[in-house]
Amino acid sequence: MSVFSHREFDNHQQVAFFNDKKSGLRAIIAVHNTNLGPALGGCRMWPYGSDEEALTDVLRLSKGMTYKSALANLQLGGGKAVIIGESRTQKTDDLLYAMGDFIEGLGGRYITTEDSGTSVTDILKMGQRTEHVSGVDKASDHGGDPSPTTARGVFVSLREAVLHKLGRSDLKGLKVAIQGLGNVGYRLARYLHEAGATLYVTDIVKVNVDRAVRELGATAVSGEDIFGLDVDVFAPCALGAAINDNTIDKLKVSIVAGAANNQLATLKHGEILHQRGILYAPDYVVNAGGIIDVYYQRKMLVAGYSAANYAKDLSAKVDGIGATLHEIFVRSDAENVPTFVVADRLAEERFNAVDCHWQPQRQNQLKSNAPMAAPSCNR
Ligand code: NAD
Repeated sequence: MSVFSHREFDNHQQVAFFNDKKSGLRAIIAVHNTNLGPALGGCRMWPYGSDEEALTDVLRLSKGMTYKSALANLQLGGGKAVIIGESRTQKTDDLLYAMGDFIEGLGGRYITTEDSGTSVTDILKMGQRTEHVSGVDKASDHGGDPSPTTARGVFVSLREAVLHKLGRSDLKGLKVAIQGLGNVGYRLARYLHEAGATLYVTDIVKVNVDRAVRELGATAVSGEDIFGLDVDVFAPCALGAAINDNTIDKLKVSIVAGAANNQLATLKHGEILHQRGILYAPDYVVNAGGIIDVYYQRKMLVAGYSAANYAKDLSAKVDGIGATLHEIFVRSDAENVPTFVVADRLAEERFNAVDCHWQPQRQNQLKSNAPMAAPSCNR
């Protein structure tokens, strides 16, 4: 298995492999870039078919975190962790403690949080071995789970996209198709319902659909039909690659804006959306509410940074997602390049503006109340 020559390597700063025979833990942590601060990203537990598959996933995901945090204007770099295993049957306390030890060994360069297959409880267990965890703060009104903030950010994004593309500042009567009614999708549906939108929904879990029909007056549609509806917005909130060869030609919407990561199966699909005049709100900009939330939760470790500071900063930063999207949409129009290309360029401009890696002696940087300027190099 190659690392430095791996197709997803993309100049990763560090890739660490960990094996703990006693607990059975096998994990990889990838730190893509720490120019703007320590790498924060979720810890995924998944039964990968091969080591190669796990490595590919962690490299791709950690790079995405660098771009996401840079565009959210956070003093964070990008990183991610994967545990190879089935979360329902192979997760034990000892395995989570061993994962905590692994993270501790990186000296703060990587900070973990929840992802697919790991919960707040799991991260708290890792947190018994390392302080480099986030997304577990009881002072936040949702016990550390960032999903409600992610949903809020998606709603803010959708409003901005509607304003830009349709010239409308209210969402009354706007028709939105939502794929996936989980932690984020259902909350997004509720925000939209409260704003007067008309909802069309699908989920592979029937109770999720029934709840949206009952509580939000949504219309249930099949997993196939969700793509071809004559509606204004398509909001992918399930898994990745919703925009692919089989679905892209069916879309009749003006806007694609949703929570799911990696919505475009390939970059070609982003190009096609652009050519067809469908406004694509780049996924990692839209769903940054979660990383913003865990970032500010971590700041609450600092004396003097209160829950009130957290609430105020969080709200301002999530609203700021709208401003970032506005900048991307305007640049995309002016330069006639797809929005996802503009987003990538903007992120690269930000993290390439600083050319030094975060070092453990800057440990307190994240915990300080210093303004959000990019860190200066202290090597
Ligand atoms: P979730 O697991 O709670 O919800 C996903 C929902 O999608 C589930 O209800 C599931 O049944 C449904 N689903 C799965 N496959 C489907 C399909 N083919 N058709 C229709 N429905 C399907 O996950 P979540 O936390 O709500 O996250 C949703 C998406 O947003 C994911 O892609 C996730 O990576 C991304 N995201 C989430 C957060 C967060 O804070 N939770 C942050 C950033 C990005």
